Amino acid sequence: MKIIRTEIDGEIFYGILEGKTVRRLSGLPFDAIVEDGRTYSVSDIKLLPPAEPTKIVAIGKNYRAHADEMGEGQPEEPLLFIKPSTSIVGNGDDVVYPAISHRLDYEGELGVVIGKKCHAVQPGHSSEVIFGYTCLNDVTARDIQKAVSQWTRGKGFDTFCPIGPHIETELDAYNAPIETRVNGEVKQHSNTNCMTHNVDKLVSYITECMTLLPGDIIATGTPEGIGPMQRGDTVEVEIGGIGVLRNRIV
Ligand code: MG
Repeated sequence: MKIIRTEIDGEIFYGILEGKTVRRLSGLPFDAIVEDGRTYSVSDIKLLPPAEPTKIVAIGKNYRAHADEMGEGQPEEPLLFIKPSTSIVGNGDDVVYPAISHRLDYEGELGVVIGKKCHAVQPGHSSEVIFGYTCLNDVTARDIQKAVSQWTRGKGFDTFCPIGPHIETELDAYNAPIETRVNGEVKQHSNTNCMTHNVDKLVSYITECMTLLPGDIIATGTPEGIGPMQRGDTVEVEIGGIGVLRNRIV
């Protein structure tokens, strides 16, 4: 099932996308999917970011080949950092190239959308708290990230976390092709089965520390092939079984 979020006449709501039709839901989709009977054509609506996370918990160097290209070694345990909720934008929104950066990188990633408040999720039980999956771009001001030991500033700018275009609730997150393109040219091409720490491990590891809330997102790390974007570029993150997240750099 594909879940979208949109706004019509000042009202924000979730819906089920089926073909070109959106079936409106009443309330949030996390507890129960309840349709309210109204339908829309997807071509008539603007998609909003499909979730409103209180936090984005991101994982550094979770693909071996990417850790190798960074030349900083392989972390033994998942390397966690937080992107602020204010970095979220949706499909079709602009990513703003900060005036104080001279190296802005894409990082195509699988985003995990949490559906239940959870803490200390035991290994093997992550599917009970995961609502679905989306495409995510962990946009990074690489020069600012590398200038200091903490990544918050280099990865925390407004518009630095595009997600979308929708949430797919039925993905096989352990074997999904992932690709990033800049102006149509393939830059990253991998599969989520190359993660060092898989989704189930990440959910248990993160919730050993902090509570995750409905709508919270885990950015599961990027494969090899990271590189720069320029103003005017169009960047796409495509995950097989989900769709294409497309944003322009301005
Ligand atoms: Mg990343």
